[in-house]
Amino acid sequence: MTGTVKPARRRRTALLAASALMVGALGAGGMMQGTAVAAPACTVDYKVVNDWGNGFTASVTVTNNATSTLSNWKVEWDYAGNQKAGSGWNATVAQSGAHVTVTAPSWNSSLSSGGSANFGFNGTYSGSNPAPSTFKLNGTTCNVDSGDPGDPGDPGDPGDPGDPGDPGDPGDRVDNPYAGAKLYVNPDWSEQAAENGGAAIADQPTAVWLDRISAITSGSAGENTMGLRDHLDEALEQGADALQMVTYNLPGRDCSALASQGELGPDEIDRYKNEFIDPIAAILSDPKYADLRIINIVEIDSLPNLITNVGSRPTATANCDTMLANGNYVKGVGYALAKLGAIPNVYNYIDIGHHGWLGWDDNFAPTAKLLHQAATSEGSTVDHVAGFAANVANYGALKEPHFTIDDSVNGTSVRQSKWVDWNRYVDEQSYAQAFREEAVKAGFRSDVGVIIDTSRNGWGGPNRPSAPAAKTSLDAFVDGSRVDRRIHTGNWCNQAGAGLGERPKAAPAPGIDAYAWIKPPGESDGASEDIPNDEGKKADQMCDPDYGGNARNGNSKSGALPDAPVSGHWFQAQFEELLRNAYPPVN
Ligand code: BGC
Repeated sequence: MTGTVKPARRRRTALLAASALMVGALGAGGMMQGTAVAAPACTVDYKVVNDWGNGFTASVTVTNNATSTLSNWKVEWDYAGNQKAGSGWNATVAQSGAHVTVTAPSWNSSLSSGGSANFGFNGTYSGSNPAPSTFKLNGTTCNVDSGDPGDPGDPGDPGDPGDPGDPGDPGDRVDNPYAGAKLYVNPDWSEQAAENGGAAIADQPTAVWLDRISAITSGSAGENTMGLRDHLDEALEQGADALQMVTYNLPGRDCSALASQGELGPDEIDRYKNEFIDPIAAILSDPKYADLRIINIVEIDSLPNLITNVGSRPTATANCDTMLANGNYVKGVGYALAKLGAIPNVYNYIDIGHHGWLGWDDNFAPTAKLLHQAATSEGSTVDHVAGFAANVANYGALKEPHFTIDDSVNGTSVRQSKWVDWNRYVDEQSYAQAFREEAVKAGFRSDVGVIIDTSRNGWGGPNRPSAPAAKTSLDAFVDGSRVDRRIHTGNWCNQAGAGLGERPKAAPAPGIDAYAWIKPPGESDGASEDIPNDEGKKADQMCDPDYGGNARNGNSKSGALPDAPVSGHWFQAQFEELLRNAYPPVN
């Protein structure tokens, strides 16, 4: 079949323009209607959203309460302590002595009547860190918004408990953020799916991937055009309760493969912190998103590599050895958990690979320990971890219906079959539930849950076995019974024969927070041949159907579909394959 020609996509310029100027949801705080007191011309909400003892992150929202538009807005205050504001985002922050002057960015320089602007910065201090008591907007003293959710005087605070229409109270942490939640549908993906034959599934929630610094402001790889704020604003517009995102930009990313190598070199941990995680934290801590549960999948392709693909193992790669030695995966994950987990409505889930990666005795418990080490580094604690994410962007079957790990053939355990190869698990659900237990033993909270990515592990279609095979031999039984039709469980790129899996569902099984579509179906895992791109991505032999394999896939054929674009870009042939082989089928 020749390539399907895809209609040009509508650019979301309207949304992008809207995001540059946040139309304020804040009312004229504290002013009763009908009193003689004139409403202050401005309101400033100054919040310390993170404080680590000698440093802090502040998020400031300024609202113009005057009836006319203000151009070139400028906010000023004096610190009472010895705080020193560093450079900021969404504005220029300068300090002289105790006096701070913040000037508008050129792209957001005017404040319409009722309009708000939000900016943030990191600062340092010693002693105490009190918020400034007085602010001026272009010379006029402002009303100070205490920002306390529930402040009786702040009727318009997004997320005030009791505000009509609030889907949930801010900061009300729940055990499972998926429970009872309407999930955000990413229009970038949804439109693409609908236009390319997937109308029946286009209303499914999928995750937003922040896979490079520029994705924060202008959309991710491929043809996605919305930045993080656009997504969050759109989520509010949809009346969603929860949004799923993936933070995926560690230094030396994807150390065991080439397909998703990223923009940051192995040593660029400072850029990861300052240019990636900090700006994301600043956006997520904007009070207007306080009612949204933000489900954050933290850095796939990272920590598990430090267990399996290093040292004297035949599966080792030079890049993974480098990342183990420099510690930047652990530091990066710790920092992301600490920073983003400090925001009350963020729920962090750490990647745990999949059963065909970590299901062996020598990998399983060590991974739980390494994750715990990362979760307690860089200022993070286990309280910053809501759980784990299994099978992200992978193809492991959710449940093997026709055999379990306890089956045997003529007294020999299926663990000794070629396919299982001594693994302790045959599918993702049993793996995820067992990993959860192991993680609790390693020191994680007892209420952690697991998300299983079911976007592409359906394995329906004509080749799906409908019953257990005859026990003529061990391998014949396992190979004839398994619904996962891959050549080897180590195969991960654009798998031929795969289908869409279980539709997203909250709390489907004990210990499982959700079946979720984290990898957006139709987006490639990697290119079969070199394709020039500015994302650091290379062709990966595992995405070439003619490749004979390596130690990480038992030296098997890759099982990949041919002619794939670079990872994250739309792959129409794969999308059609996923629709055809969906299980449950798509009606
Ligand atoms: C790519 C990312 C992309 C993600 C979702 C990954 O393999 O490296 O750029 O956003 O898949 O499709």
